Amino acid sequence: MKRLLALIIGWMALSGVVAAGEYPGDYAKGPRFRLLYYYDTEAEVAHVEFAEQLRDFIHRLSYGEGFLYDVTTSLEAYPLDSLKQYDLIVMANALPKTDRERGDFQRYMEEGGGWVGFHASGYNDSSTNWPWLNEFLGCGTFYCNTWPPQPALCEVNVSDHPVTKNLPGEFVAPACEWYQWNPPVTANPDVEVLVSLSQRNYPLGIKDIVHFGPFPIVWSHRHYRMIYLNMGHGDLEFSCPTQNLLLTNAIRWIALPSNN
Ligand code: ZN
Repeated sequence: MKRLLALIIGWMALSGVVAAGEYPGDYAKGPRFRLLYYYDTEAEVAHVEFAEQLRDFIHRLSYGEGFLYDVTTSLEAYPLDSLKQYDLIVMANALPKTDRERGDFQRYMEEGGGWVGFHASGYNDSSTNWPWLNEFLGCGTFYCNTWPPQPALCEVNVSDHPVTKNLPGEFVAPACEWYQWNPPVTANPDVEVLVSLSQRNYPLGIKDIVHFGPFPIVWSHRHYRMIYLNMGHGDLEFSCPTQNLLLTNAIRWIALPSNN
C-alpha cells in the first residue's frame, strides 16, 4: 500500500498534478516589506548613472506592490525612528554623511535592520573617519582599484546560499571599477564571502593594474543583516541577466529572511 502511495505521489510530482489542498502560488495580500533607497546625486557621474539605473531596477521589482519603497538622496530627514519603518535600506554609492546620520544608521543595523550596499557605499579611507564602517564591512580601509572599468571573471564561493542560487560557478560580470581593501574581508572569520573575482583575471586593468591578492566582491558580515556588492559603476551594470539575478537574490535575501 505504501509503495502504491509513493508511486502515485511520484507520478503526481512528475506530471505536475497538485494534491488537493495544496497550491504552488504564494500571493501577497499586501506589500511584503518596506525598502528605503538612498543614493547620492553629488557623486561622480558613473556612480550616479548606476544609482539611477538601480532605482529603476528596484521599481520594476516592486511591480504589483510586492513591496513599498521610498527614494531619497539625503538621510537628513531620516532619524532612527524613521529608519526603523523600513525592513531594509539599499545604498548605492552613498553613505550617511553627518555624525547624527551615521549614529542612527549604526543603531538601526545593530538593532536588526537590513542593508544592501553597492560599490562606493563600501569606500572608506583615512578621510572617511568612521571606524565603525570598517567593523561593519569586516575589512580594513580602501586599498586600490582597477581602471578603466572592465568586465571580469567571477567565481561563486558558496553555491548553496540564497544569494548565489541558480548562478553558474563562474560568470563574466559587466564592466565595473573593482575595489580591494587592506586587510581584505577574507582575513575576517565573521565574514562569509559569496563571490570573488577569479585569480585568473590578473593582471587586471589597463591604466590602474591590480596584480595579486584575494578579490572578494560580494560578502556578508555574520553579525549583521547585511550584504555588500562591489558592483555599481557606470551604465552597463544591468546588461547581464546572471548579474541581475545575483542582485535580485541579494535584495530578496535581506528583505525576506524567513522566505529564502
Ligand atoms: Zn566607481
